[in-house]
Amino acid sequence: MKPYAQLIHSQALLNRLRNVRLQVRSIPYRMGGNVECPICGSHYKAFMPFRYRQNAYCPSCKSLERHRYAYLTLRDRLEFYKAPLKKVLHFAPDSCLTATIRKNRFIEYLTADNMTSFTNSITVMPDHVMSIDAIAFEDNTFDVVIAIGVLVMVPEDTKATREVYRVLKPGGYAVFHDPINYSLAKTFSDASLTKEEKQGLYHGHDQRWYYGLDYADRLRAQGFEVEDDTYAQQIDNKRYGISPNEKIYIARKKE
Ligand SMILES: [Zn+2]
Repeated sequence: MKPYAQLIHSQALLNRLRNVRLQVRSIPYRMGGNVECPICGSHYKAFMPFRYRQNAYCPSCKSLERHRYAYLTLRDRLEFYKAPLKKVLHFAPDSCLTATIRKNRFIEYLTADNMTSFTNSITVMPDHVMSIDAIAFEDNTFDVVIAIGVLVMVPEDTKATREVYRVLKPGGYAVFHDPINYSLAKTFSDASLTKEEKQGLYHGHDQRWYYGLDYADRLRAQGFEVEDDTYAQQIDNKRYGISPNEKIYIARKKE
């Protein structure tokens, strides 16, 4: 067997072993029906822990809180999965959401990632290796752009939102979700923070931006129309393992 084939083979084997271990670990969580994953329909006593968070991870479709909330927002609030036909660009595509979109006949679907944030357990290989701050598509191409947990990792996030605005058709919308600290008035980025300081701010994640209350205003400054989101309070958030304070920002390009 050639070296690269060996590598792919051993990676696939490793993934299979990881999945077996995950399914064994998930058995106690499957003994009950308190919570439900809206994406795959699985029921659990509680979702599995993920990093520092309890009640977070669906071992069947690999969804986290943000994916379940994004799915419900797309399906019910935006009627994303229904006609008319739409062209969609998804950055850092998550396997659970990608699976629901790829099979939909009303969606022409493209995925993109610059591969620096690839997490084997959650994301899938993209159609295009491309950064969100340099999108290789013409102006006014897409009806919808999805970027969940992407802006927070981009050095010049306003360059990224300008690019998303550019490739959206007039009347089209972007779906943005990032970690936001609602006790922070103003967003900041500070490359000089030590590892310990980052740990205190955001549990040590290697993110570039510390978003605060001005998150929506920063999108409005790029020309987007953005409404405040209270949808998480209107759904059975406890059942779906979603915080009532969860927010997704739907940013529309003006007609
Ligand atoms: Zn699931």
